[in-house]
Amino acid sequence: MQVLLGAVFVALVVSGALPLSSDGKPGSGVARVNRFDGPAAWRLVKMQVDLGPRPAGSAASRKLAARLKKLLPHGHYQAVPGGLRNVVGRVPGRERGRYVVVGAHYDTKDIPGFVGANDGAGGTAALVQLARQLRPRTIGPAVVFVAFDGEETPRGVPDDDFLSAGVRGSRVAARVYRRAQAMILLDFVADRQLSLPREGSSDQTLWARLRKAAQSAGVGSYFPASSEETIEDDHTPFQQRGVPAIDLIDWDFPCWHKTCDNLSAVSERSLDASGEAVMGLLRTLG
Ligand SMILES: [Zn+2]
Repeated sequence: MQVLLGAVFVALVVSGALPLSSDGKPGSGVARVNRFDGPAAWRLVKMQVDLGPRPAGSAASRKLAARLKKLLPHGHYQAVPGGLRNVVGRVPGRERGRYVVVGAHYDTKDIPGFVGANDGAGGTAALVQLARQLRPRTIGPAVVFVAFDGEETPRGVPDDDFLSAGVRGSRVAARVYRRAQAMILLDFVADRQLSLPREGSSDQTLWARLRKAAQSAGVGSYFPASSEETIEDDHTPFQQRGVPAIDLIDWDFPCWHKTCDNLSAVSERSLDASGEAVMGLLRTLG
């Protein structure tokens, strides 16, 4: 993703201290409800990381896409220019014609040795686990789950060209699913010191519902009542088409596009908190 407004991001040095649980600090709460299988989602993170680097168009990426297609209910591919592919699943709702989109990118930044445990694997794992656990026709709208290909810009492309050279899969999906009622993007949702303030461009009403759902699920401490800067990401093409969208992205992540974004940078508890909150949000959609 790309930060807007020229804001300078200063990576906080992780002290190695235990997570803080007071308001506004990284959460440490354990979910009160269990609608999201954290251990199963964690296995999905490991499965992806075990494949090694997974840049768009690579053999490892294609292998992962085939696995995602099998894992997602009604899994199928959606062609993306350049020989890429989104992987799409669907859980039917009670009402015809209404749907929401849940998305995450499954490609990793093309950096030697970069396995993207948080930036790629975490969001994808949460997406697959949500799709597998959301029961058909328990909520009004259908939920379309889209694992995006090609979020990252190819090697050598300047970050300034993010919206024209990156977000390749989400630009296709935003056109196809432009009538979605809402779009929920899972990006950095598994880092150890997880804290998810509202991303600056995220729809305020939808975000308020997410925070409420997180509190009901017992994971409210991970969702402080503050906002971070606007970040261009896979939700942006949906916003450009008028779809209310939110982006769960802990931008305060010191291993962003560094090889330390491996299994040691993520935690099952963080992933579970994100999953419980989003499952709770989906259940409020009527
Ligand atoms: Zn990235």
